[in-house]
Amino acid sequence: MAEVSITFKAHGGYEAPWIVVRGTDAADASAEVEALRVMGAFGAVKQIAAEFASTPVPEPGAAEAAVRAAFPNATEVQQQAASVPPAQSLPVCETCGGPTKFKSGTSAKGGAYQGYACTADRTHFDHVK
Ligand SMILES: [Zn+2]
Repeated sequence: MAEVSITFKAHGGYEAPWIVVRGTDAADASAEVEALRVMGAFGAVKQIAAEFASTPVPEPGAAEAAVRAAFPNATEVQQQAASVPPAQSLPVCETCGGPTKFKSGTSAKGGAYQGYACTADRTHFDHVK
């Protein structure tokens, strides 16, 4: 008799655990199946498969794709944020060494100005050229 191979697949999904039993003939294969059943191999495979499935490994790039899907304009947001200087990059006041904030506008005389104004004393103003 020809060699026999019997495959048990738990369900139709691609992730289904399965058992392949090989025998030299039908009787041998049947005996192997019965031996596995008696030993509880079918239940063990099912349990091991469940444990394995409960610790899924994310597909490569899946996290990145999820972030892109959730924030489709993320690149634009980053570019907009980059045009505003972060607080820690602000220079200190040249006069007193205190913290500054960026200001711009038009003076009473009509001239445009922009620069870093001292938060402690408004007369400490460092113009940006
Ligand atoms: Zn100052």
